[in-house]
Amino acid sequence: MKDQGSKCSFCHKPKEYADMMISGIDAYICDACVEQAHLIIEEEMPEKERKELQKIVNPINKGKGIKMIKPKEIKAKLDEYVIGQDASKKVLAVAVYNHFKRINQPASDDDIEIEKSNVIMVGRTGTGKTLLARTIAKLLNVPFTIVDATVFTEAGYVGEDVESMLTRLLQACDYDVAAAEHGIVYIDEIDKVARKSDNPSITRDVSGEGVQQALLKMLEGTDILVPPQGGRKHPDQKMVKVNTKEVLFICGGAFAGIEKVIAKRVNTQVIGFRGKEKEDVDGENLLQYINHQDIKTFGLIPEMLGRLPVLTHLEPLNRSTLRLILTEPKNALVRQYQRLFEMEDIELTFTDEALDLIVDKTIAYSLGARGLRSICEAIMTDAMFDLPSEEGVQSFEINKEYAEDKLSSAKLASLQQTAHAE
Ligand code: ADP
Repeated sequence: MKDQGSKCSFCHKPKEYADMMISGIDAYICDACVEQAHLIIEEEMPEKERKELQKIVNPINKGKGIKMIKPKEIKAKLDEYVIGQDASKKVLAVAVYNHFKRINQPASDDDIEIEKSNVIMVGRTGTGKTLLARTIAKLLNVPFTIVDATVFTEAGYVGEDVESMLTRLLQACDYDVAAAEHGIVYIDEIDKVARKSDNPSITRDVSGEGVQQALLKMLEGTDILVPPQGGRKHPDQKMVKVNTKEVLFICGGAFAGIEKVIAKRVNTQVIGFRGKEKEDVDGENLLQYINHQDIKTFGLIPEMLGRLPVLTHLEPLNRSTLRLILTEPKNALVRQYQRLFEMEDIELTFTDEALDLIVDKTIAYSLGARGLRSICEAIMTDAMFDLPSEEGVQSFEINKEYAEDKLSSAKLASLQQTAHAE
């Protein structure tokens, strides 16, 4: 507001010597002092922090642009990128759809409140858990981040605070707080924060139960003060408030050994349940019978499980699934190599026998789906090295003999080592 009969409280310049005088409750400031103050702030505040704060003050997207897609469409889209895993795809599609219905529900005066549908996925490593979560986030056009539960510790201990996952989410959307508040966080290796012992009171379990306790509020939905630059390295940074009520959390883990827990429970139930024969239980794939009780027995605390109501499992990848993964997804490995060669004007083809060989070797060395890539790289490196310098090559075929030759025993030995390291 412009004031006529006053002088600047900072430089005592009378109003008639200033271009403009702004009045506060008990003070005045002239335009020159405003300018001066602005310069001081500019100089004092580190460039990066200022830019980040500007972004926070001026959200670019305000959380708009989320695509509302029906469960069947979500599943169909997932099918384009992820092979198999139909059970998980359905469960995830419904969970995500309900999540967005919940966000968009009109205010009503009855007591029906749709609860959050955070998800927990159980399945061996490399079966597509991260891929599913990532693909869903892409479909919905929401910010997405992957965090590893093993880096977290209870606040005050060496390691990262759980709040840092929201820092990553903010970074993923260029500090658009409103967009982050509708984002998806994938927490990998959630099984690694299982309680180590059945007796929680003996010693503080800072990386296990402590982390689970720290996660509870965040999973449920509350205001969390987040350090925009993350970590504890910048103690002076201004905190940003992020509400997690509408953030969807998807947790994943291999839960190695949980089959034993399931087997024990299923066997007891089968014995006590007339009409259901023991033969009905598929002992090869016990994960399909998993329930919340098993995960509790494994070491996740009940309060945590209560906040992860949607549970699903992923199937182990068999030979035919691995074979399809090579060629079918939109982003399939074979397509990626073909694109690389296309850029050299070379048409790349793989014979069926060569593809079978890649799958056989992946299985032989227990490398999982990630191993397909290592085997392909071992086969393709020489061609990718030589061909760009060769004139007049228009096509290139990878057949079984070529692949076998490239997968020389020396290279396989190193792959085997990788397999053991994993
Ligand atoms: P997880 O999170 O279960 O350990 P990922 O989702 O990271 O496994 O999978 C590792 C890689 O293996 C993915 O990037 C993808 O290339 C491939 N992959 C795994 N499972 C599938 C699947 N069902 N369909 C297509 N690709 C898959």
